[in-house]
Amino acid sequence: MKLLITAAAVLAVVFLAVWFRRRIQNRQAATGKVVQLKARRKVSGQAGVNRCSFCKKKAKRLSFYANEGGRVIGVCDICKPQAERRALLRL
Ligand SMILES: [Zn+2]
Repeated sequence: MKLLITAAAVLAVVFLAVWFRRRIQNRQAATGKVVQLKARRKVSGQAGVNRCSFCKKKAKRLSFYANEGGRVIGVCDICKPQAERRALLRL
């Protein structure tokens, strides 16, 4: 009976140790690269940040114009002449 209790105690300690380590790892992962990646993805995924308003393609460089409705739109180099032709206000 004593051996059984000891075995149970050892098992409990091992279980706790594994659980605790996993918790620490999760916290490290949450505060580490994962969150940074998520935050970065959130920023780059915002409408108009680096997506062309005309062709909806991602562009490294965007030119910003105010359209007829007064809304700011980002235009890639390919669609830039299109925006110029529409006489949009260059920002
Ligand atoms: Zn474009």
